Amino acid sequence: MKIAMVSEHASPLACLGGVDAGGQNVHVAALSAALADRGHSVTVYTRADHPALPRSTPLTAGVIVEHVPAGPAAEVPKDELLPFMQPFAAVLAERWRQDPPDVVHAHFWMSGVACLQAAAVTDVPVVQTFHALGTVKRRWQKSADGSPPERLTLERGIVRSVDSIIATCADEVAELRAMGAPDERIDVVPCGVDTQRFRPGPAPRNKRPRLLVIGRLVPRKGVEDAIRALADIVGADLVIVGGPAADELMLDPEARRLADLVREMNIADRVRFLGRAAHADLPEIIRSSDLVLAVPWYEPFGIVPLEAMACGVPVVGTAVGGLLDTVVEGETGLLVPPGRPDVLAAAVNSLLDSGTRRVAMGLAGRTRAERLYSWESVAQRTEESYHRTLASRTEPRKPPNLPPRTMPDGTTPAKRIGLADRTGMSDRTETAGAR
Ligand code: UDP
Repeated sequence: MKIAMVSEHASPLACLGGVDAGGQNVHVAALSAALADRGHSVTVYTRADHPALPRSTPLTAGVIVEHVPAGPAAEVPKDELLPFMQPFAAVLAERWRQDPPDVVHAHFWMSGVACLQAAAVTDVPVVQTFHALGTVKRRWQKSADGSPPERLTLERGIVRSVDSIIATCADEVAELRAMGAPDERIDVVPCGVDTQRFRPGPAPRNKRPRLLVIGRLVPRKGVEDAIRALADIVGADLVIVGGPAADELMLDPEARRLADLVREMNIADRVRFLGRAAHADLPEIIRSSDLVLAVPWYEPFGIVPLEAMACGVPVVGTAVGGLLDTVVEGETGLLVPPGRPDVLAAAVNSLLDSGTRRVAMGLAGRTRAERLYSWESVAQRTEESYHRTLASRTEPRKPPNLPPRTMPDGTTPAKRIGLADRTGMSDRTETAGAR
């Protein structure tokens, strides 16, 4: 199959750990490579966010990354990218008119917006993976949610308009149903883990127990709760990976806020902030830890717990989102309620007290990661989902069912980004003409 992966803000080539670079980047890179290994030809479309980027570059055998000029050739926070989905969609439409893919796989809601727009011109099947849903983000972050106000409405439009949706966990299915997605158009395929790279093995160990947190330094990842829990975990150290590179870490407001908390709590001698780590260095960092803490307030999927399990390290996680599927309570780790450092500390202490239990959980985690979450099996299930999508397509695409919204300059984006104000053909004609 010829597959177009569209990942507007999350490039498979990006450095990980920054505010907007994490699981989606890993997912798109690894899934594309694993699909190419299965004989497919994959092009990943992502926004050009640096002037020196080549228009197109190989990622691995069978995978090309195309840098799409749309908006400034500079880093732009993902919450400010929506206005650039119009030129992004125009490039996709042009490409796909010349050389239509068999299937388009959109990652994140804004890619869905761009793909549906381009697909209205070229009639290619669109599969959507949201990675995160605006409804969930709004529920948890409330006024701190910086997403464009149109996000919720546009996401509901995407749910109604795409050919199928790949949810990454059972919890997401419930959210999608509530948004009006029919069951027959939803497949559940989890994210994966590179079980070759993330594997058990020797690693430098300290005498003192080491707890590890890995992730983007954003409040919802619950790093503050891990720090607060440390007050009740005697004798253990906490290592925090993520955020900007080590030499720039304290320029980051969230890193500074957490470091201030550590000082206030008088535990600076037990907490180390490493800054972002190269993905390739993480297996050793994980293996040198006794437990990985993954304690977000909410989590669309969470690849880090899988990486820990694949390395044979137990996870103490919060019972939210994807962790409810990946971490088996009492077998591969322990699950605690979010926002409860006291319960987290008790769970960590119970595992630090029993090396035998930790070893058993580590082994069970490795087995589970290999059995269910290798990228090979994730790619196979994704391919099956593509086939089901293609088989269920009996009619040409209807105009995308995305509602209108108003841009700051007063125009409707249906005209601006050619998105669907349900005018359908006229909208499509206008976009095609604009090219
Ligand atoms: N990651 C990394 N270096 C860092 C921080 C994170 O390589 O400094 C990787 C991490 O190993 C994982 C991904 O970024 O593969 C984060 O994915 P996850 O799904 O856990 O969180 P998200 O970023 O999607 O919220």
